[in-house]
Amino acid sequence: MYYWTNELWRLAYLVGGLGALGWVLDAPGWGLAGGLGLFVFIHLRHLRELYVWLTYHPGREPPVGSGVWGDLFDRLYKYQKTQRMTQERLRDVIRRVQESSEAMRDSVVMLDSRGDLEWWNTAAERMLGFQTRHDRGQHITNLLRDPRFVDYFYARDYREPLTLPSPIRDDLVLQFQITLYGDDERLVMARDITRLHRLEQMRRDFVANVSHELRTPLTVLAGYLETYTEYADQLPPRWRRGLSQMQEQTTRMQNLVNDLLLLSRLETDHQTERSTPVAIDDLLESVRRDTVALSEGRHSVHVEIEDPRRLSGVEQELRSAVSNLAFNAVRYTPEDSTITLRWRAWQEGAALEVEDDGEGIDPVHIPRLTERFYRVDKGRSAATGGTGLGLAIVKHVLLRHDARLEIDSNPGEGALFRCVFPAERLIEADPALADAQRA
Ligand code: ADP
Repeated sequence: MYYWTNELWRLAYLVGGLGALGWVLDAPGWGLAGGLGLFVFIHLRHLRELYVWLTYHPGREPPVGSGVWGDLFDRLYKYQKTQRMTQERLRDVIRRVQESSEAMRDSVVMLDSRGDLEWWNTAAERMLGFQTRHDRGQHITNLLRDPRFVDYFYARDYREPLTLPSPIRDDLVLQFQITLYGDDERLVMARDITRLHRLEQMRRDFVANVSHELRTPLTVLAGYLETYTEYADQLPPRWRRGLSQMQEQTTRMQNLVNDLLLLSRLETDHQTERSTPVAIDDLLESVRRDTVALSEGRHSVHVEIEDPRRLSGVEQELRSAVSNLAFNAVRYTPEDSTITLRWRAWQEGAALEVEDDGEGIDPVHIPRLTERFYRVDKGRSAATGGTGLGLAIVKHVLLRHDARLEIDSNPGEGALFRCVFPAERLIEADPALADAQRA
């Protein structure tokens, strides 16, 4: 506002002064026109100086200006200076981030919102084979082509890391983790976990080997114990008790060894192509018979088939999972309890449920139930013949079938174990019916 009045005064002086001079010289029109012309000339000259400064020498000091122009030049100069300082600071931050990422042993790759490569450190060149000259601007899935990585990248669910071999060195095992930030940009980190992987492999092999080695001596022991038991009536009572306890414990060890071997096979054997369409009604019926045999008539066991679809999977593994759940229901529920084995549609897929109306489980234990040897009540599990591996086996079988385990239970309200299978694993019972539904 202040400068408007100032400028108006300047105009008034020029037009008034030159107008008065013109009037004295008897040419008032020329005087007024000259005043206006001078005013316009002054502004045009400043405009030109501004243009030259901003276009050709933006780094230099601003030109000297009078009136509103001087103030405008100062303000622009100050604005430019703060902008430059902010830019400098940002550049410094980026440089430091890049330097620290460069010093990291893990691969760091920055992607733009389309998934194209923007920047990466030297570890990424070493582990992933990226080349500075060729690969900038390439889409990440052009360079990391493993279908598991491509699925992981597009699924956008990065809560769990992904373990894969390096694309350039088979002996290197990498763990990928993606983080979304900013405007849909992504940071891909890859850690070399080869050593950890090897140790894990060694642990698995060790458990599998020990279990395998224990099998033969245990069979021999169990065989002799069985023979001796036949002559138990010829032995003193103290020996008889000892003999029956030895037999009980040998059976327990045999069960443990079998479960350990099954678990290590489930962990190491990655073959999934053995999947066949499994008729769940037949499977549940056969598990029901085994469960009734284990229960010796103390529980009532039912099968409910609410979904006609079959499941694509490995029958032996599925049977082992459902049997574990059903046998647990027998072992951890009192006499006269009801156990239901159910197959039903659930969310987008289907669910295999084992439900009982026994004592239930305190929810604090539920998150840890599938851990190996985790027991709510140690003494009870041992007394009922549990190995502590049942639910760990269930979890692994489900993992191999792209399924998950949900446990719903409260003390005194029974327990529901639900294995949820995705729609892709389901096969319509009758192709004609499926066609009709699709139409
Ligand atoms: P275990 O061999 O001890 O049964 P599992 O892994 O099969 O090992 O089960 C882990 C624990 O979960 C058991 O020790 C038991 O306390 C609890 N559990 C499993 N099923 C049931 C059930 N149907 N009702 C109550 N508790 C259960």
